[in-house]
Amino acid sequence: MSLPPPLPPSSVPEPDTAPNACVNCGSIRFSTQTKLPVCEPCRASLIKHPFPFWVKLTSATVVVLLLSSLSLSRERFHAALHLATTKKMAKQERWDEAYENFRGLMAVHSDTETLLDYAEAGFNSGHKREAAQALTTLSGRRVSKDEERRYNTLIYQFQLEQQQQRQPVMPLAPVNVSPIRLNP
Ligand SMILES: [Zn+2]
Repeated sequence: MSLPPPLPPSSVPEPDTAPNACVNCGSIRFSTQTKLPVCEPCRASLIKHPFPFWVKLTSATVVVLLLSSLSLSRERFHAALHLATTKKMAKQERWDEAYENFRGLMAVHSDTETLLDYAEAGFNSGHKREAAQALTTLSGRRVSKDEERRYNTLIYQFQLEQQQQRQPVMPLAPVNVSPIRLNP
C-alpha cells in the first residue's frame, strides 16, 4: 500500500489588490504625504472637506433637533417637578407656599385638578377671592366624581364661612358661673 501523493502547495501568490490609481479621481500619481491610495490634490481636498456637504447638513439638523428636544423635555421635566413639589406643599398644608406656586403654574396648567388645587390652596391661605374665581372658571366643566367632591367641599366651606360671619359674635362666658344643668 502506497501513501497518496502530497497535496500540491497552496502557496499560490495572492493577486496584488492594492489600487494602482487614486481611489478618488483615478490619477496614477500618488501622494507622497500618505500611504493611502490617493493623489496629492485629492489628499489635500479630503483633509479640507472630510465629509460631503449633505452629510454635514444632515448632522447639523440632527444636532439641532436633538438639542431642541432635550431643552423641551428639560422644560417639561422642570414643570412637572415644580407641579409635583407644589402638590406636596398643599398636602403638607403649607398653604401660603402652595398658593404662590400654584398661582405661577396657572398660566401653564389650567386643567380641572390643578384649578382645584389652586382654589384649595387659595382658600386655606386666605386668598378667598382668587379661590372663588378659580371655582367660577370650573363651572360647566365635566368633572370626575372626586373632582366634584372637592369642588362641593370648597363651596360648602365658603358657605359655612359666610354663615359664621353673619352670626353675632358670641360674648365671652363670665367666669365663676355655675354650669347649666341639663335635664336628663
Ligand atoms: Zn486623486
